[in-house]
Amino acid sequence: MAVCDFIISGARVIDGSGKPSQQLDVAVERDRIVDTGDCSHWHADSLIDAQGLVLSPGFIDSHTHDDLAVFKTPELPFKISQGVTSVIAGNCGISLAPLKPQTALPAPFPLLGNDEEYQFPSILEYRKNWDRSPGAVNIALLTGHSSLRLGHMSNLEQSADPSAIAAMRGALKEALQQGSIGLSTGLDYPPAAAASTDEVVQLARVLHEFNDALYVTHMRDEGDALLEAVQETLDIGNQAGVPVVISHYKCAGPANYGKSSESLAMVDAAVSTQQNVSFDVYPYTASSSSLLYHFVKDAESVLLAESTPHPECNGKLLDRIATDWNCSLPEACERLYPASAIYFQMDEADLERIMRHPAAMIGSDGIASMLTPHPRLWGTFPRVLGHYVREKKLFNLETAIHKMTGLTAHKFALKERGEIKVGNYADLVLFDPETIIDRASFEQPAQICDGVKSVWVNGQLSWHDKLSTPARNGRFLTH
Ligand SMILES: [Zn+2]
Repeated sequence: MAVCDFIISGARVIDGSGKPSQQLDVAVERDRIVDTGDCSHWHADSLIDAQGLVLSPGFIDSHTHDDLAVFKTPELPFKISQGVTSVIAGNCGISLAPLKPQTALPAPFPLLGNDEEYQFPSILEYRKNWDRSPGAVNIALLTGHSSLRLGHMSNLEQSADPSAIAAMRGALKEALQQGSIGLSTGLDYPPAAAASTDEVVQLARVLHEFNDALYVTHMRDEGDALLEAVQETLDIGNQAGVPVVISHYKCAGPANYGKSSESLAMVDAAVSTQQNVSFDVYPYTASSSSLLYHFVKDAESVLLAESTPHPECNGKLLDRIATDWNCSLPEACERLYPASAIYFQMDEADLERIMRHPAAMIGSDGIASMLTPHPRLWGTFPRVLGHYVREKKLFNLETAIHKMTGLTAHKFALKERGEIKVGNYADLVLFDPETIIDRASFEQPAQICDGVKSVWVNGQLSWHDKLSTPARNGRFLTH
């Protein structure tokens, strides 16, 4: 009789491929799935009765800023409690590595950590730290364009000259050789806004030398110039010959509500020419970032999450603060800085159209460093499964799980993950499809969701009955 560590029996298994669920047993030995189906010929150290529950691959959070959070809070309760077993970090142009800044950090860098916390001059140094102190979930790292700019340019308010481009290309190449999976940009943020399209193309061409490396972008504009920004992104992907992921896909600002039909048609047209394009999206109509006036303009209302000089204003509406201070909105932003905010700036119909799209992956964009985070940090995945699948019936459970697992693993080329099949890593989540729901709200954002029973990372039980186990079994994922 073959021997394994445990068998999960009787669950409705949704394998992550998008195919219909099946009633299967799943056997795990060490870090791998060793059998599925009838596992009665296995002798297991423990048998887990999962009648009435769904077993799926652990969720892959396709958009995070967890570069530093994995070291500061390695138990990562805001991830593992949702069933997340892998994160893609280094998004929006700001990666913790490779960067050891010589000057004070401009926005949005403080979203990750303070000046002293950027202490990894290479991906290799970051990996050494990870090996000493791994987190509870797996991590893959993008290399941030803004981090490269800050490390290799003295004036960020211009496009890179040939020598700066050569230096950044060299640094990006080294990062990819050391295990980074791609390049991210944040062209909507001050450190990168002056970069020309050509600057980005020249960097993205480095990706082409590496199998599966991809270009991931917080685009130059998500509001009035959304369509131009989508076009620029598709052009960059085409000119560099690399896969493209558009970050936190949205149509920002009331004037742009409804534009998702047009912008998604551009994605469809690109896909029909065999261009590899996908995007991540979070299930909320409010965004969150540094407090910057150019984001304020595109919002219906803005909630101050936190301000360093004026903590007494945290949780107040920006309009109200400006009225109380008898000043303009730009002036209020300046006085509150450094600060972060939540922007109510999207339309539900756009959000649903975007989530339904076959190229849509679920990604939280959660920011763990914020005292008052956006609820997406703790609620993204159960909100999709509870609110959008069970309550609103936006799509079925198999489709939702695919957008959180198999599709993401495929797009980011995370091998042997994202699907329940023999030989794959045993990243697994067991949840109750009738009760799973987010509890995090804008008022009380740090709330554990309901309905997630157990989570395994590389075969180790890491979350059970709303509690972390001591396991810190995450791996550093490379291509
Ligand atoms: Zn972003």
